[in-house]
This record gives sequence, C-alpha cells and structure tokens, in this order.
Amino acid sequence: MKFERYGIGIAKGMTVTIKHLFRPSTVSQYPEQRLNTSRRIRGNELIWSEEKCTGCGTCAKTCPQGAIEIVTSTNLVENKYRVEKYEVDTGYCIQCALCVEACPFQALFLSYQYECATYRRDELIQGKEAMLETPERPVSGYFYPERAAKLPKQTLLIEKVVEKR
Ligand code: SF4
Ligand code: SF4
Repeated sequence: MKFERYGIGIAKGMTVTIKHLFRPSTVSQYPEQRLNTSRRIRGNELIWSEEKCTGCGTCAKTCPQGAIEIVTSTNLVENKYRVEKYEVDTGYCIQCALCVEACPFQALFLSYQYECATYRRDELIQGKEAMLETPERPVSGYFYPERAAKLPKQTLLIEKVVEKR
C-alpha cells in the first residue's frame, strides 16, 4: 500500500512550486525597492526634543531596560534643569515605547527608522545630537496621531498584487 503512494507527496509539492513560478512576484526587491512601513512603526531609535525636554527624568524611571541615562544640572537663573547628557543605549531598548507614553512634555518619540543595525556595539548608543529630529531621521506616528497623519500611507502587499493584475 505504501509503495503505491511513493512519490505522490513530491509530485504535489512540485505542482505548487511550478504554479508559483508563473505568478507575478509580490515581494519588493529590498533594498533597491522599499515599501512604506506602518505610520505607527516602533522604529529602532528614539527621537528627542531638546526644546521641550525639562530633564524631569520620567522617561528614564519608566524604562524597564534601564536604557536611558540623563544627567542634569541646575540653571539657577531660569530656575530649571539643564540637560547635560541624554543617552539611550538602543542595544538594550526593546522599543516598548513606555518612555514615549510617559513623557509629560511630549519631548520623546519613537523613530520611523528600522535600518539601524551596526557591527559595533558602541555605535548603538544614541547621544543628544543623534536623537534630534531631522528629515533623514523622522518621527514615527506612534502615540502621536497628528504626526502619523503626515507620514506616507503604508504600502500593503495586497495593493501590490492588485497593481500587477
Ligand atoms: S520624560 Fe520627557 S521631559 Fe522628562 S526627561 Fe524624559 S524626555 Fe525629557
Ligand atoms: S522604548 Fe522602552 S526599552 Fe526603549 S528606551 Fe523607551 S522605555 Fe526603554
């Protein structure tokens, strides 16, 4: 009985493979072609606003990974903190966004970036300058719907399939 069925599984598998050979491809050719990610992507970095940050330290206290380090000094003239050091170790960061949600001054955001891999461990530490928002380092719309609305619409694979038909 088993002898009669020998090779049927392979034939079925090959039929599926051959069918797919003639279907249009739906996967983009990364990195030459990129699809737009979700507007609410939890990117690999944090974006920080120097103007809005008061140095309250809520983000650092909230972080379950202890990934944020803040050093402040007191500005007696203006009666407020000055942020001397703001650093995030993205190697420890799990993109949970608790810090973003906890910031009472809307000074912290997740980034829209997802290509931040590096060969060197020390390059994963983001300092103040590397955390500022720039056109190359945009902010994700996570937790900020008004920002999400300004980002490109996410490309869905189903749209690519329909496009090619
Ligand atoms: S919680 Fe916000 S305002 Fe407070 S230190 Fe962190 S980023 Fe700055
Ligand atoms: S996203 Fe989460 S893990 Fe990363 S720095 Fe913020 S609180 Fe910490």
